[in-house]
Amino acid sequence: TLSDKLSSALRNLRGVGKLSEDNMADALKEVRTALLSADVHFKVARQFVDKVREEVIGKDVLKGVTPGQQIVKIIHDELVKLLGEGETQLNPKKPLKVMMVGLHGSGKTTSSAKLGRLLKKRDYANPHLVACDVYRPAAIDQLEILAKANDLGFTCDRDSKDVPAIGRAGLAAAKAAGSELIIFDTAGRLQIDHDLIEEVKRLRDTVQPDEVILVADGALGQEAVNVAKAFHDALNLTGLILTKLDGDARGGAALSIKSITGVPIKFVGLGEKVEEFEVFHPDRLASRILGMGDVVSLVEKAQEHIDEKEAERMAEKLRKADFNLEDFLAQMQQVKKMGSMQSIVGMLPGMNNVELDDSADKQMKRTESIILSMTIKERRNPQILNGSRRMRIANGAGVKVVEVNQLLKQFQQMQKMMRMMKGSKGRKMMKQMKA
Ligand code: GDP
Ligand code: MG
Repeated sequence: TLSDKLSSALRNLRGVGKLSEDNMADALKEVRTALLSADVHFKVARQFVDKVREEVIGKDVLKGVTPGQQIVKIIHDELVKLLGEGETQLNPKKPLKVMMVGLHGSGKTTSSAKLGRLLKKRDYANPHLVACDVYRPAAIDQLEILAKANDLGFTCDRDSKDVPAIGRAGLAAAKAAGSELIIFDTAGRLQIDHDLIEEVKRLRDTVQPDEVILVADGALGQEAVNVAKAFHDALNLTGLILTKLDGDARGGAALSIKSITGVPIKFVGLGEKVEEFEVFHPDRLASRILGMGDVVSLVEKAQEHIDEKEAERMAEKLRKADFNLEDFLAQMQQVKKMGSMQSIVGMLPGMNNVELDDSADKQMKRTESIILSMTIKERRNPQILNGSRRMRIANGAGVKVVEVNQLLKQFQQMQKMMRMMKGSKGRKMMKQMKA
């Protein structure tokens, strides 16, 4: 795997304090080779290595990990950034119209049912599938069987080749059924051709989809890039579904497609069964491309020590009781980076034994948006927040004034507690908190 190769390329780096152009050259070559062998397009691999080089050079080597491990982590993070950039969420509109396009056998029909099933569980009422692949009767049957098995609405017309008319009929049926999700399964060809594109365009112009999703076979490798480019040029794709990642596909094609077209990957297919389908997780695919995983978590642990330093700085501010809403915001943003509220709450005075559920994270988002709606001056001096300022902030954050008041009250209590802790009793408490 890449991490093995890297550790040998970087063995001589042990004891080096800083990563430099010179001591990194071999390692970066390994990275490039590994990307190419994972099916990444050569241009993308080159760009990517350049980016990693920029990112790496001049960095201090973290204690507790080897430079090789640290670099793998940097590469991993860059991959995640690249794979996850752009809007990976679906358009939030309801009803949502989704058109599936792609080559023959890429997994459009299967993915249509998979997506319908997944979103039905996520509160899209009565998803509806429309069979717009009119060339093979078997294709219509296939979609119908999937629709029935998963309790999804279904429209087809076995006697018509008029795809836009079928699309219109599908829309009408979906509307009558109160459907909040309509998925149009279209025909594919073995390779991209003019007639296919024209037909899909006509359907698009008729049904006006909110999402145009290319279903691409993850095992296709480099060809997938050209296919994606052609579809994107013709149809302005809004997303990708990458299928067959359960096989030995290394996922490099995903990286190439994403970086060449800029179209975000939204879902992945992980098997033939309808439930083998999930929202795209850039970090999982990045690990797959790199053929590692444990290294990433190891380096993450090393980085936690860095966060600890920041946490100590905050604790110091807490102790001095000059903690204001701006610090509070910074603190929350750091928590978000670390993933959970629980870890940080334990550091706050009097809250080290509090157990939280995920409503805490929702609350945190609300709190964050309230503070973000304040001016810097207000964050530093919460006492100037009079009625009209509070009203303005509530409007800005999309919450009620009482929620702003609540936040400020909580904050005042916290400050009071901190002031108390400045005394000798507080020092004792502080010691306990650190333990
Ligand atoms: P379409 O021609 O684009 O509509 O493709 P289909 O949906 O008919 O899928 C073609 C074949 O690929 C079928 O045998 C599917 O079961 C299979 N398939 C689709 N998605 C996946 C996937 O994520 N993993 C695996 N292993 N097979 C898949
Ligand atoms: Mg099909």
